[in-house]
Amino acid sequence: MSRTGGNAGCDFHKGEIKVKIIKTLVGALALGLAAMTYTASAQEKGLVGIAMPTKSSLRWISDGNELKAALESKGYTVDLQYAEDDIPNQLAQIENMVTKDAKALVVASIDGTTLSAVLQQAADKGVKVVAYDRLIRDSGNVDYYTTFDNFKVGVLQAESILKGLGYPEKKGPFNIELFGGSPDDNNAFFFYDGAMSVLQPLIDKGDFVVKSGQTGMEKVGTLRWDAAVAQARMDNILSANYSDGSRVDAVLAPYDGLSRGIISSLRGVGYGSAEQPWPIISGQDAEVPSVKAIITGEQYSTVFKDTRELAKVTANLVDAVLSGGKPEINDEKTYNNGVKVVPSYLLVPVSVDKSNYEQIVVGSGYIKAEDLK
Ligand code: BGC
Repeated sequence: MSRTGGNAGCDFHKGEIKVKIIKTLVGALALGLAAMTYTASAQEKGLVGIAMPTKSSLRWISDGNELKAALESKGYTVDLQYAEDDIPNQLAQIENMVTKDAKALVVASIDGTTLSAVLQQAADKGVKVVAYDRLIRDSGNVDYYTTFDNFKVGVLQAESILKGLGYPEKKGPFNIELFGGSPDDNNAFFFYDGAMSVLQPLIDKGDFVVKSGQTGMEKVGTLRWDAAVAQARMDNILSANYSDGSRVDAVLAPYDGLSRGIISSLRGVGYGSAEQPWPIISGQDAEVPSVKAIITGEQYSTVFKDTRELAKVTANLVDAVLSGGKPEINDEKTYNNGVKVVPSYLLVPVSVDKSNYEQIVVGSGYIKAEDLK
């Protein structure tokens, strides 16, 4: 009995072990298959390198995060790098991506003219290159460009200045000072030209006066979009041209970071009081501190560019190109990079001031209402 019982117990035990082994094998097989499928799709889709200019401005941080998430959700592996506005650093990062066999590069350049050699290395390996927001110049190895209508950005900045001043109902003449973006960023010229397409005729008419006499990108450009550079230039303009009691009525500023530097300079000589109200100051990017400044009346306007959309459009474009499909393009004439017209996808910028920030930037979920408190 005890033997039989013992045997029966042993058989049962053996049976249990068999079931366990089979379960384990099936489990392992399933895991193995899953791993193989995963590896296959990751290998199929491959690595995409994203080179961003700097973390010093909020927009590039969210651009990078959005792009990475969008590409990963499509099955790509992503190498996201920031170069802290250092050109050799960005070059090394891109070289490294090419060495690691990236299938595509998405590049928001620091200096759009410095990448020709590394892009030749990329082209030799068949890597696809997308210029992200900033055009890469002087290279035939730029396949696509995704950005906003940059000329329109400048037009919106200038038009918001007219709105803020109440022009043409209020006649002026108004004193305006002009700031441009970084001369190594192709966008800076588009912003400036767009703004001047509105302002130059009014300057010619005498309704707007640039007391400093500083016009043209070679005089008004701000290297690396540096707020401290803009602040120092505004300090000089104020002491050299406005110490006689005359007033600055408006400042064309192409980017929120520069607007904040300019505001600091103006505050230093007493603007922002009842006797000396803030000039009308433009901006760009709808950065949180600047939307707050719009609410408090220090800055008049900004230009909202939905970088979530730009990331989505770019990820779709990369995916289409790498899957042998046809990417969506809506402009094939505007962006000549010195070697060729780069096929582009342009998104639409939106002007934002106190009257619509809630609807546009908060309503779209770009900024949370509590972040503006
Ligand atoms: C971008 C702007 C940004 C500026 C400074 C430009 O290339 O288009 O959105 O304000 O760089 O970062």
